[in-house]
Amino acid sequence: MERAYEKFLRYSVVNTKSDDNSESIPSTKSQFDLANILVDELKSIGIEDAHVDDNCYVMGTLKGNVENKPVIGLIAHLDTSPDFSGKNVKPNIIEDYDGNDIVLNEELDIVMKVSDFPYLKDYEGQTLITTDGTTLLGADNKAGIAEIITVIEYLINNPEIKRGDIKIAFTPDEEIGRGADKFDVDKFGADFAYTIDGGFIGEIEYENFNAASASIKVHGVNIHPGSAKLKMKNSILIGMELNRLLPEFQVPQYTEGYEGFFLLDEFTGTVELTKMEYIIRDHDMEKFLSKKVLIEKACQFINDKYGPGTVELVLTDSYFNMKEKIVPVIHIVDSVVKAMATVGVKPIIKPIRGGTDGARLSYMGLPTPNIFTGGFNFHGKFETLCVEHMDKAVETIVEVIKSYGK
Ligand SMILES: [Zn+2]
Repeated sequence: MERAYEKFLRYSVVNTKSDDNSESIPSTKSQFDLANILVDELKSIGIEDAHVDDNCYVMGTLKGNVENKPVIGLIAHLDTSPDFSGKNVKPNIIEDYDGNDIVLNEELDIVMKVSDFPYLKDYEGQTLITTDGTTLLGADNKAGIAEIITVIEYLINNPEIKRGDIKIAFTPDEEIGRGADKFDVDKFGADFAYTIDGGFIGEIEYENFNAASASIKVHGVNIHPGSAKLKMKNSILIGMELNRLLPEFQVPQYTEGYEGFFLLDEFTGTVELTKMEYIIRDHDMEKFLSKKVLIEKACQFINDKYGPGTVELVLTDSYFNMKEKIVPVIHIVDSVVKAMATVGVKPIIKPIRGGTDGARLSYMGLPTPNIFTGGFNFHGKFETLCVEHMDKAVETIVEVIKSYGK
């Protein structure tokens, strides 16, 4: 049987970069290129209902061989990050890695240094797949796709393993936050699912941020500076004042773990009009809500001080912490922890400081934690995949499926 990394090598050369400036679904046509390859592969191993829909969602079912067992979904995304080139990916295999700096590209002098990525030391003796320094690798998330298909193939080849139906989905446009947009949860028909889209071996994630955006307009009054006394209202300065009302230390550069933040990530202004775009993040729902109240109060204070209508605020929720939807079915996490113990992987449970498609799917009625792929340094030229850890991801998922078939 083909190992997961061999499949990965085939998928990695298909350019599936998504594009956040595109309005089309999927955002780039080339995602269909991989989708079609995957449908053919799934069909060739016996997934008869494998298909891709008009929105580029690949779905298929591995029929169960026992009745009345939970239907488990396995999900990965087709696209790669718009942050870096995904064209002409040339994966490079390093066998029995020696633990030293890795020259990705001699000509261009691109080196992955142990001093920059100290965890490279942990990979001594393993087989790594790297880039040639000019593209990303696409381990995020083609490693997940390769692992899922390997799991399916393994289950088909080992029919003595008792299991319920397994549902497979490969989704487009995850990297631009649209992966769950057209996901038909009812059609998928799983009781719960896993995204295979994590990084380091052992990672299981089922907590992510609650997220909102705050879009603020500050209206000023412009007037010739020579005659501006007690008349000019400079919206730039008022915007700066507004920002000072937010806690200085609750920003990304001073927070980690479960600490939330306000991020001012766009600020453009003239005397007349200033626009400020914030994102607000917190794992804890109460703290999240109080952050939203705080920014509302800050805007209110400015309006009290400078007159009604000076500040306009639009608060929009983006996504919520999936924990709320996972805890009632926490067995879906416990089963992964147990599976890891069986295959000799140490579980690492940590909160995601971001969101996942799984978070949105969880709120659409499909509880979906995230499992590691064995890759790291995603979204850039240092993206790397560990072949042995891919195998461990496959073993972990097989064990989870076994545990629900008993
Ligand atoms: Zn991903």
